[in-house]
Amino acid sequence: MNRYQTVRPEQKYTAKMFDRQFPTDDACLEQVKEWRFPGGVALCVNCKVRRKHYRVTGRMAYACYACGNHLFPLAGTIFHKSTTSLRTWFYVIRLMASTRVGISAKQIQRETGVTYKTAWRMMKQVRTLMEDRIYLKGPVEMDEAEFGGSDSNKPEHLRGKAKATVFGIVERKGKVVARIVPDATKESILPIVGEVLPPKTTIYSDESATLALVKWMGKSHKHLTVNHSEAYVNGNAHTNTIDGFWSLVKRGIKGVYYQVGAEYLQSYINEYSFRYNRRKVMRPMFSLLAERTPRQVCPSAREQRLLGS
Ligand SMILES: [Zn+2]
Repeated sequence: MNRYQTVRPEQKYTAKMFDRQFPTDDACLEQVKEWRFPGGVALCVNCKVRRKHYRVTGRMAYACYACGNHLFPLAGTIFHKSTTSLRTWFYVIRLMASTRVGISAKQIQRETGVTYKTAWRMMKQVRTLMEDRIYLKGPVEMDEAEFGGSDSNKPEHLRGKAKATVFGIVERKGKVVARIVPDATKESILPIVGEVLPPKTTIYSDESATLALVKWMGKSHKHLTVNHSEAYVNGNAHTNTIDGFWSLVKRGIKGVYYQVGAEYLQSYINEYSFRYNRRKVMRPMFSLLAERTPRQVCPSAREQRLLGS
């Protein structure tokens, strides 16, 4: 039995649960407000003190109880100035969180009724929330993969273009870090190895040039002299984890990648990494993603003024 086929009760988040938790736009707004300003308590820029804010009926805003100054929980978030209903946004987040191999903009369009263009833009925004900065522990496997390498299925104008190299490091039974690199040279790969792996990590890799480069780093970079001294070369059987990750991503983005181009590949890889890295977290994937929505991805003009920038 494939253990990933079974969703554990703690990870389950059904359509029914979604409908119950977020029946309206107001329920979604209230949740974003709670994540961002728990209890509605926030700095009132007018009173210059932290005060409780109350919902303003008919507006996506809350007001300071003392002076009535408005607070906008959606300002600067991926929802900023969007004309799409907040509940539709939440629904898209649920769809993107609940898939394993990915979901297309076409399917989002069908399920939500928004235009294809809007669906595509929403997904792009949601992906910005899926970027992780994480560190790994050994033993790890590392490998590089080519994306967009085959010309046979591409339209004429894309042939020979849009080829990208992705470098990946994965913990066995753990998390993954995968980044687009300009090439598989040491200048591209070693900084990533140095950034995400602690000293003396055991590394498994196939017999590609990658491992040789890591060994080379161990000898030549004094800060990292002992970092990867225990590097072993193993057969293909020992890179099953990273191979599995590549095939998951490739299966998912096959067909869409040629259309979106290399500039979006990293965000697609982030999307797959985000879900992969949380597959064993005993909470619904939807919650893990949705609670990132208060993140400031595009500070509003008002907030920029307040920050003095
Ligand atoms: Zn006030």
